[in-house]
Amino acid sequence: MGSIAERLAEVRERACLLYRRAAGQPGEPHIVCVTKTQPLPRILEAIDAGATEIGENYLQEAIRKNVFALRESHGLTVRYIGRLQSNKYNAILQVFDAVDSADSGLLERLYGIQDRGAQKACTFLLEVNAGEESQKGGLTMPQIRELAAAGTPWLREISGLMTVVPLQATMQMRARIYQSVSVLFHELASDLGSSRVTLLSMGTSDDFELAIEHGSNMIRIGTGIFGPRSLSQV
Ligand SMILES: *Cc1c(COP(=O)(O)O)cnc(C)c1O
Repeated sequence: MGSIAERLAEVRERACLLYRRAAGQPGEPHIVCVTKTQPLPRILEAIDAGATEIGENYLQEAIRKNVFALRESHGLTVRYIGRLQSNKYNAILQVFDAVDSADSGLLERLYGIQDRGAQKACTFLLEVNAGEESQKGGLTMPQIRELAAAGTPWLREISGLMTVVPLQATMQMRARIYQSVSVLFHELASDLGSSRVTLLSMGTSDDFELAIEHGSNMIRIGTGIFGPRSLSQV
């Protein structure tokens, strides 16, 4: 299996190679280390090995582990990638650097805030519920197209899209989903401005190669770096 450092290095090497091939130019994809259920020492191990972005799923767990202190000490970016509840919008906006699982409620709330002084978060990805699953957050692709066509003002808050494929999806289904979300991403970039809409977060440990081949420039890797997760929060 190797150490955290070795696994991160392997993921990075593989991801960079495929990214350069897919994009036809140098550069590298964002690698978000998914640190839910991982205690602080393991997170520090990943940071020592070069991790610059982490993703957390639970507000309380992130606060308990105090991952936010690593922002100043280690130049870390802390992204929220979990399910959203409207009663936690404000708290999440105050502590995370980015919300990758943003929904229409959060973006609408954000659009209404004039004074953003109390808020840390400045990057928002709209979650695409590409599999149209009732238990998932975010919006379906038809809903997003409708909002874009209507010139919905809060859509201007987004820096890109994020999607999580259905758990049981085959590689063939994943490829189809990644391809369609990628098409939507390019539509939005040309609609809202390609300097503004730049991030496409798709792919996890199981399928990041496939996602990058279909245009992902941000992958979210948990078990592929840290090994199997314990079931409970830290
Ligand atoms: C847990 C999680 C991941 C990481 O999945 P792995 O299979 O461990 O790589 C990625 N994205 C989201 C939204 C997650 O909740």
